[in-house]
Amino acid sequence: MSENDYRFDTLKVRAGYRPEEHNGAVSVPIYQTAAFDFGTEERAERLFRNEEFGFLYSRIGNPTVDVLERRVAALDGASGAIAFASGMAAITNTLFNVAEGGGHILTSPTLYGGTVDSFKKIYPKFGIKIDWSDNFSAPEKLEKEIREDTKAIYVESISNPNTEIADISALAEVAHRHGIPLIVDNTFATPYLLNPFVFGADIVVYSATKNLSGHGNVIAGLVLESGKFNWRNGKFPQFTESYYTLRDRQDHERSFTDIAPNFPFTARLRAVYLNFFGAALSPFSAYLALLGLETLSERIRKQVETTKAVTEFLNQNEHVLWIKYPTLGDSREKKLAEKYLPKGAGSIFSFGLKSGAAQINTFLESLKLFSFHVNLGDAKSLIVNSPKTTHSELTPAEQSRAHLPPETIRVSIGLEDPQDLIADLEQAFKTAFQEN
Ligand code: PLP
Repeated sequence: MSENDYRFDTLKVRAGYRPEEHNGAVSVPIYQTAAFDFGTEERAERLFRNEEFGFLYSRIGNPTVDVLERRVAALDGASGAIAFASGMAAITNTLFNVAEGGGHILTSPTLYGGTVDSFKKIYPKFGIKIDWSDNFSAPEKLEKEIREDTKAIYVESISNPNTEIADISALAEVAHRHGIPLIVDNTFATPYLLNPFVFGADIVVYSATKNLSGHGNVIAGLVLESGKFNWRNGKFPQFTESYYTLRDRQDHERSFTDIAPNFPFTARLRAVYLNFFGAALSPFSAYLALLGLETLSERIRKQVETTKAVTEFLNQNEHVLWIKYPTLGDSREKKLAEKYLPKGAGSIFSFGLKSGAAQINTFLESLKLFSFHVNLGDAKSLIVNSPKTTHSELTPAEQSRAHLPPETIRVSIGLEDPQDLIADLEQAFKTAFQEN
């Protein structure tokens, strides 16, 4: 049986690693080394001429990090993958790789606040133009906003914080009609709940800091490519033009599409952006992410069940003004959830309290089990007032455009007992609304 024949739960603990190649070590070893001995001059030559795959220097490749890359690639059926030192590094390096030199990116206003802020503050300084469109739920209108210089459509499969689901197949069709890739941040869903490649996405990025590693103990990111996008269509010369570093022994220069026809995007991302910007994931962080990944399905299954119980409780609570979770949404959201998230809509949701800022603060401070901070996708349940924290970079107008009213509270459900979580919310409601 080859690795390709195994199912998800086998791949998440086995893919990309053969103990016999590592002294029989059952747990993936942490290769805590900066560099790797070439052995012979002839081997050094082979490595530098891309005739042999091997490790040179841990900024551009490391055996522990490599297992993480191969494992997540196996889960999503990707042709190539690169780990980065954070989700932000994964996103920034990806978008620079596709739109460098004056490209334009079309995106949705409903994104993680840090992503929005980086789009506003950094990208224009590097010559990359970003437009936010309100038409992500109306792809035929969105299509009209694609310009000659548009290099990608970028979206979150489940948006942060208000869990709006992207219609990935409709967006992919629009993107492909214009010869550009659809890039999907699949952080909230994880490979367990959704594989965006199945629906036509071309590049997938993750903050592996969140549910993918799942324990709130590591900062990590990943970029994967489908291997199906045609980078030779004339719009992306950076992948097809010759690159001196890729020359063969006869000194013929080659391109990324020449040396890595199935994964030119990640090949260039590694050789150029990981190499020069240097946001490499450490082997220890890769080890922690691999450890977390081993229980991905088991964690998410339980978290989805608990999320259902907690959202049902809140949905009936008199102090709750509204609640946003795909399966509780309108008929469009429910249909999208059925199509893209049949195993569940994840462990994150948001709600609004019928109260002013002071009561929201008392409510948050009265919780004993929910940790009050900006992370999500942890084994511990977390809560945060997004407009004042994770999305505080957005102006009031931008928050309103992102469907983020001031009373928004984002919750990330962990692995505690659901009854204890509900009891904790109940006692915090009592304190905030002085019902004791
Ligand atoms: N993408 C999403 C959807 C996120 O929620 C976050 C962080 O909250 C990021 C990317 C950035 O990831 P990291 O914090 O690992 O840099």
